[in-house]
Amino acid sequence: MALTCPACSKVKMTPLFDPEKKLEIDLCKNCNGLWFDDHELREFLKSDRFTRMFLPDLINVGNVVAETYSITMKARVCPRCRVRLEERVHNGIAFDICAQCNGIFLDDGEINQILRAYRQGRKSGDKVIEAEMNAGLKREAQDPFSILTPIASFFKDFFDLKKK
Ligand SMILES: [Zn+2]
Ligand SMILES: [Zn+2]
Repeated sequence: MALTCPACSKVKMTPLFDPEKKLEIDLCKNCNGLWFDDHELREFLKSDRFTRMFLPDLINVGNVVAETYSITMKARVCPRCRVRLEERVHNGIAFDICAQCNGIFLDDGEINQILRAYRQGRKSGDKVIEAEMNAGLKREAQDPFSILTPIASFFKDFFDLKKK
């Protein structure tokens, strides 16, 4: 079942699949928005296929749509739960989140910003972050998302937002 884009409201999203990671995310070809179910964003960051696809710039997949719909500024609704999405801003990146299922909707370009922050964090291997890790992020270090360790502070906040 194709999901309906929270931003365009009438447009069905297109599933994108990474066979290696067995991960499916949903892209709106009208607004280039992306929908991630709970945990899919973390998996996405580990997917070579998807990161190649979305870095450095989102390929323009939008132009294959014959009919265009305007992007609504009205309340956005979770494509799964049909409840209103909550708007959050983290490190300058705005996103919409569903309080019920933890799904995340990202507007065009936002995933690029996240990927860039992710890459930079991995490169710098910051000592401060390392200290933070030792101080209280053991949980993160032990779980399968340890790839996120170098930028734990960025993503810890990011994923903590989801729990509020
Ligand atoms: Zn859309
Ligand atoms: Zn939901």
